[in-house]
Amino acid sequence: MTAETRQFSTEINKLLHLMIHSLYSSKEIFLRELISNSADAFDRARILAMSNPGLFTDNAEQKIFVDVDKKARTITVRDNGIGMTHEEVIANLGTIAKSGTEEFFKKLSDEQAKDANLIGQFGVGFYSVFMVADKVIVFTRHAEAKPEAGVRWESNGQGEYTIEAAARKTLGTEVILHLKKDADEFLEDYRLRGIIKQYSDHITVPIFMQKIEFDEKGQDKKSDKIDWEQVNKATALWTLPKSKIKDEEYKELYKNISHDFSDPILWSHNKVEGKLEYTSLLYIPSTAPFDLWQQTSKHRGLKLYVKRVFILDDAEQFLPTYLRFVKGVVDCNDLPLNVSREILQHNPTVDKIRAALTKRILNMLEEVVKTDADKYAKIWAEFGKVLKEGLAEDFANKDQIAKLMRFASTHTDNEKQDVSLSDYVSRMKLDQDVIYCVTADTFLAAKNSPHLEVFRQKGIEVLLFSDRIDEWVLMHLTEFEGKKLQSITKGDLDLSKFESPETKEAREKKKEDFDNLLKQVTNVLGEKVKEVRLTYRLTTSPACIVADSNDVNMNMQRILKSLGQAMPESKPIFELNPEHGLVKRLNAETDDARFAEWTQILFDQSVLAEGGQLEDPATFVKHLNALLFDLSKN
Ligand code: ADP
Ligand code: MG
Repeated sequence: MTAETRQFSTEINKLLHLMIHSLYSSKEIFLRELISNSADAFDRARILAMSNPGLFTDNAEQKIFVDVDKKARTITVRDNGIGMTHEEVIANLGTIAKSGTEEFFKKLSDEQAKDANLIGQFGVGFYSVFMVADKVIVFTRHAEAKPEAGVRWESNGQGEYTIEAAARKTLGTEVILHLKKDADEFLEDYRLRGIIKQYSDHITVPIFMQKIEFDEKGQDKKSDKIDWEQVNKATALWTLPKSKIKDEEYKELYKNISHDFSDPILWSHNKVEGKLEYTSLLYIPSTAPFDLWQQTSKHRGLKLYVKRVFILDDAEQFLPTYLRFVKGVVDCNDLPLNVSREILQHNPTVDKIRAALTKRILNMLEEVVKTDADKYAKIWAEFGKVLKEGLAEDFANKDQIAKLMRFASTHTDNEKQDVSLSDYVSRMKLDQDVIYCVTADTFLAAKNSPHLEVFRQKGIEVLLFSDRIDEWVLMHLTEFEGKKLQSITKGDLDLSKFESPETKEAREKKKEDFDNLLKQVTNVLGEKVKEVRLTYRLTTSPACIVADSNDVNMNMQRILKSLGQAMPESKPIFELNPEHGLVKRLNAETDDARFAEWTQILFDQSVLAEGGQLEDPATFVKHLNALLFDLSKN
């Protein structure tokens, strides 16, 4: 068979261009990426060997070799892992199969982010070799393939590669890098050892390099007979006692398993003994991963080991969805080695571990709240929205989750969500037994909502909800420490206990004066409203709309609509502020046409203030202009 020349996919070309021309820092990560690919290749080999026990019998010992040839200016990374077939080489080293690449390009084109460290996160690690090499050759043979089915791949990273058959005695993969002129540093033995120590010390596969001897001039020379020595520790960090592990080591392991290049903000390492035996090492990242909100993302969950043997990446069964940002390792003694994702889904042991890990994470968060409020604020800023899902998802831990919630509030009037429900309760008015909140599309819409007027006047705190998920928070978190949560845009607002008896009496009297007005307004608006009534929740606005207590409020209606959900029709209640000049004028208006126009304007305004859309904006504008014109004449 002759060599075939093929083009890289457009995406790869774009990526290679970036690698070669834009990335200057952390070039050394190419070695981490190659080693991590070899380590993955062993993990997959082990899984394959379970269904095909005849494999790997001749070279059972798993090793990675890193070899430098100063004269030839090459670095070779070799493993006896699963290898690749011809088709796999084309698919894996010629195209990008994974999603999220667009995101990657976006991140990389960001001026500050020209850091090669990002590469691993996005599943394109292999191509980082072209930062340091101008020719790369891969020899590989899949574990189930015959020697003559070996493959040779070669590329200079410029648009195309060649692929051809190349018989190969041994299984596995060998990657040969011909280093660029400016990559001399990577020909130094100590440099490579340093990189391996830094990035790959806890990869469970041993990594070997040739032993170096020095001649009389202090120059290094390799001995004639090849003498290999192990460079990395190759122990699973989590199996060691906590006291033996340095913070730096915890952080390094995190970077290895998460492909995140920043330090984790928090971690917890625990060994559980007894009926159920497992070790867990759980990390909270310091920033949210790019795919946190991608429903289809596969990068969720923990790395699963059974009795130190790697089983699965991204075992999402060990965490509830709302803790999907947690990374880490779970090593369990009570699962069979041949577990699959399917088995994990309905396994009582897994369920028990998940419940325990959930508790552990919640406790860990509760602990930071107490010991380091700033740190918790950072965690909340990154993951608060996800944690909120827990109120709906995790009934058993609802109370504990509620304590972790943070909201914006009229107390601080600041977009930062930093008020806890306990803070709120501690500031409640003497007779107040309800936790008030307002929901809106945006923080500003919530903060400036007309519904807040009376609360601001009376100095009653209101929580400002403007995350999309907050409507669900309200649905699921109906009370906190015996206090009901109430949306102030819904139902009849009874603040009478904060009023003096005189005010109440005066209001009763006033009611009669407006009886007729309410009837007329109802006539004008007709089918658009459920009811028209007077309100005392406003001080500076003339009118507002509210949802009936059993109806869905406007914000939620919009959200459901945008999610394509069918909505039962629910009409708003229109409330008029009898203290407001405009409403008083309306009450005195005798011209029917003008009355109708004003009514319509007041109603449309209220819909707008609620963040709603007008059915007929053009007519609203026409009415408003007519009104302004009228005013300008006087
Ligand atoms: P990722 O490792 O995130 O999948 P890479 O770009 O590092 O992305 O590698 C692409 C793919 O190439 C891998 O998923 C794997 O299928 C294949 N591959 C790379 N190196 C090896 C290797 N040493 N042994 C077997 N397969 C490999
Ligand atoms: Mg990789």
